[in-house]
Amino acid sequence: MSTTKPVHAGMDQFAVAGGELLVGTIPLSRLAQRVGSTPFYAYDRALLTQRVRHVRACMPPDLRLHYSIKANPMPALVQHMAGLVDGLDVASAGELATALDTGFNPAHISFAGPGKTDAELTRAIAAGVSLNVESEGEIERAARIADRIGIAPRVVVRVNPDFELKGSGMRMGGGAKPFGIDAERVPDCLRRLQALGMAAQGLHIFSGSQSLKAEAIAESHTRSVELALRLADAAQQTLPGLYLGAGFGIPYFAGEQRLDLAPIGDNLADCLRRFDAALPGTRVSVESGRYLVGEAGVYVARVIDRKVSRGQVFLVTDGGLHHHLAASGNFGQVIRKNYPAAVGNRMGGEDRENVSVVGPLCTPLDVLAERMDLVRAEVGDLVVVFQSGAYGLSASPTAFLGHPAPAEVLV
Ligand SMILES: *Cc1c(COP(=O)(O)O)cnc(C)c1O
Repeated sequence: MSTTKPVHAGMDQFAVAGGELLVGTIPLSRLAQRVGSTPFYAYDRALLTQRVRHVRACMPPDLRLHYSIKANPMPALVQHMAGLVDGLDVASAGELATALDTGFNPAHISFAGPGKTDAELTRAIAAGVSLNVESEGEIERAARIADRIGIAPRVVVRVNPDFELKGSGMRMGGGAKPFGIDAERVPDCLRRLQALGMAAQGLHIFSGSQSLKAEAIAESHTRSVELALRLADAAQQTLPGLYLGAGFGIPYFAGEQRLDLAPIGDNLADCLRRFDAALPGTRVSVESGRYLVGEAGVYVARVIDRKVSRGQVFLVTDGGLHHHLAASGNFGQVIRKNYPAAVGNRMGGEDRENVSVVGPLCTPLDVLAERMDLVRAEVGDLVVVFQSGAYGLSASPTAFLGHPAPAEVLV
């Protein structure tokens, strides 16, 4: 019986030479020596640049592209992205500081997220960044702070849309949500902001993310644009900016395919024409995190032990869920599936076997790859987990069990 197993996309972006995976043209073993310790995350700056160019090539030229820092807040990486995109989106005062350190124009930095404290609101207003308000209470608090410090804030209203991005891994809109102001309340909020002397600079609509379905993404963009036009009309206001969640996903699991951006770009060009006809002068931006950086990063762990338990081979590595919660399957997965992985210093080897790659933590949750077909690895070899450039280190419980934090390099 021969069955073709679904294969993993999301590994071919890195070149291979002499049996070694190349990250930023450096063979992996050499890179590990240069870093000086394992495990580590490595991000390839050429791949980041290429990815942004690809997105721009598929999108209408006057669409603005924003990078959502929460996908990967490593300062060197954010600095690199700052040179490529039109806006930076932050979701905490910590990310705000990282964004400001790049020298980026504060007018093109936006601060979203529920539960902003007065201290965070003050810092954002003082910095002159856009404040994406998430509730009516936040509007009133921002107004009081603005009054006290004597600076008019740039306010963007985050809308909780009356729809969600279908089939997305992350649903962020529709129904009852902690994010944004319910669409039906938004016209009143826009009028309230005007009365407070801080008229909205735009609307922010994020309906979901991690979608691999171009049609569903295009539909959510169209519906977002229609909603924005309805809300602006109901409030009798113009709209200097519209900020849309891109929703672009990347393939993580066997059988998934890369997203085709071309139809999404064509649809956004239509959206822009409609907007221009109704509200000329509105600038439209899309915000994306993982699509821009996720495929450019790998997590690298060294094999510490190789053991066989009742017929199953385990590669025990120095890396695990404490550094890479998402790859362990514990960051929002319902059924655990493997991220793409390989033995990075034995690429293309012929001798393959079925193994599980686990970490050093005393918990059965600490799995990096379960019963995966990999090249036979020995103690000292380097296991690579791909698609690790987004929601990796910063989304992981590094303090759990007290192992050292991994290094991060941009090459
Ligand atoms: C997290 C987030 C994003 C980025 O999502 P990705 O899946 O990384 O593209 C964009 N916008 C908002 C408001 C977010 O909270």
